[in-house]
Amino acid sequence: MSDGKKPKLAVWKFASCDGCQLSLLDCEDELLAVAEAVQICYFPEATDTFVKGPYDVSLVEGSITTPHDAERIHGIRRSSKTLITIGACATAGGIQALRNFRDVKDFTRIVYASPEYIDTLGKSTPIADHVKVDFELRGCPINKSQLIEVIAAFLAGRKPNVPAYSVCMECKRRGTVCVMVAHGTACLGPVTQAGCGAICPAYDRGCYGCFGPKETPNTSSLAHWFGEHGKHNRELVRMFRSYNAYAEPFRAESEAHEQ
Ligand code: SF4
Ligand code: SF4
Ligand code: SF4
Repeated sequence: MSDGKKPKLAVWKFASCDGCQLSLLDCEDELLAVAEAVQICYFPEATDTFVKGPYDVSLVEGSITTPHDAERIHGIRRSSKTLITIGACATAGGIQALRNFRDVKDFTRIVYASPEYIDTLGKSTPIADHVKVDFELRGCPINKSQLIEVIAAFLAGRKPNVPAYSVCMECKRRGTVCVMVAHGTACLGPVTQAGCGAICPAYDRGCYGCFGPKETPNTSSLAHWFGEHGKHNRELVRMFRSYNAYAEPFRAESEAHEQ
C-alpha cells in the first residue's frame, strides 16, 4: 500500500443509476470503519474531495457506452493498483445493454428531439471488455456485505470470500420452500449467482437473475424445463434478457429462443 499511509480508495462512475455506489453509503456503521482504514480520494456520490492518484483500490460502477467512456477507463486503469467492478452495469453492460440486441439509432431517434447530437457507442459493454479487471462483484445492486468483504480482502491482500454457487444454495440454507417445485413458478435461481440471501423465493416469487450467471450455469437445461411447463420462446427471451442480458450465458440463452 502507500508507504505506511492509508491506502487510497477512489469510486468511479460510468453509465449507471448510482445504486451500487449507494450500497457503499448504505453500509452505515461499517462505512466508518472503511473510512478509517482508507483515504477516500474520490467518491462524488459522498464527497467533493478529490485527491490525485495513483490509487490503491478503485471501485468502478457503470458500463462503457460512449467514446469518451472508452477513453476514460484506460486512464483510471493506469492510475489504479487494484480495479474492482461493482454491479451488473460494470460487470455485464447492465440494463442499458438491451441496446446491443438492436440498432441503437432506433432508440435515439425515438427518445431525443435532435438525435444527431448524441454521440454513443453501438453497444453497452462491461469494464472488463476494455481493461484488465482484478475482481468483479455482481448484483443489481450489489450486496453491501459482499462489498465490505471485497474491500477488506483487497486491503488485507487476500482473496475475497464471495461464493460462485447458485441462489438455490441460499434458498436451502434459509429453509425456503422452492417456488418452482411447490407452485411451478419459473425461477432463475439455479443459474444465478448467490449474494442476495435468496430474498425473492422467500417472498414466494421466482428469481429473475439480478446477480447474473453463477459459475458454470446450465441455462439450456433450465430453459428446457421452463418450456415443458408452458413458457413460450418469447417469454424465455424476456426472462434471460434483463439486468444481466449481455452476460455471456444469459445472452446466448436468450438468443437461442429468439425467432
Ligand atoms: S448494477 Fe443496478 S443498481 Fe448498480 S448501478 Fe447498475 S442499474 Fe444501478
Ligand atoms: S425457489 Fe428458485 S432459487 Fe430457491 S431452490 Fe427453488 S429454484 Fe432454487
Ligand atoms: S432476483 Fe434473484 S438474485 Fe435478485 S434479489 Fe431476487 S432472488 Fe436474489
